[in-house]
Amino acid sequence: MRVSRLKAIDNMRTMKETQTSESARAVPPPAPGAERYPSLDFANSVVSVPGGRRVDLLDSPAAATRWLVERGLAPEDARLWDFCAGKLRGLRDRTRTLIAARIEGAPADPEAVDALNDALTRVPTASLLHWDPVGGPYRAASHPATQIVDHALALLAADAAELLTAPDAERLTACGSPPCDRYLIRTHPRRHWCSVRCGDRARAARAYARRTRAAAD
Ligand SMILES: [Zn+2]
Repeated sequence: MRVSRLKAIDNMRTMKETQTSESARAVPPPAPGAERYPSLDFANSVVSVPGGRRVDLLDSPAAATRWLVERGLAPEDARLWDFCAGKLRGLRDRTRTLIAARIEGAPADPEAVDALNDALTRVPTASLLHWDPVGGPYRAASHPATQIVDHALALLAADAAELLTAPDAERLTACGSPPCDRYLIRTHPRRHWCSVRCGDRARAARAYARRTRAAAD
């Protein structure tokens, strides 16, 4: 698991330069902390962008496959099903709920905790016994797509559990530049946006508000 996680982090560094899909362009580069915690990047795989749009990088099997492959969480030739992408989005939304609760110091949704623990413990390791009428008994793993997605979910859930309990969690915050709703680990007490793009937008909004106030006075 450790090796996969490091590989995921390594892949994410190179990914910044190689994101090419239209959705990926609409989303700012990984937020501070996402390079260390793949689960933070996972939580940020859906984002509200200006213009009332919501971009979901896991909204189809192809998009979800690309997201996993780019982070070294699935092999290049992986082909996920609709069901697999749905499972990823489900855990992603639960992870967001838990991060929000951690930031607010609010009680966690017990269902979200259960879902995370369920993903964490369901690592497909055992090959099951099959019995061919002609060839006899043999062992084979579950369907590759299911196995890939369960493995990725286990890694992401383990990382989320680590993120939520690490000292870094004290610095978790939501991006302060509406409409962005990504999460980040603050690197500076006063910096609370997830990207240069969001910081620029927040500054422009403040300047605009000042001008409008001055004009009204
Ligand atoms: Zn942001």
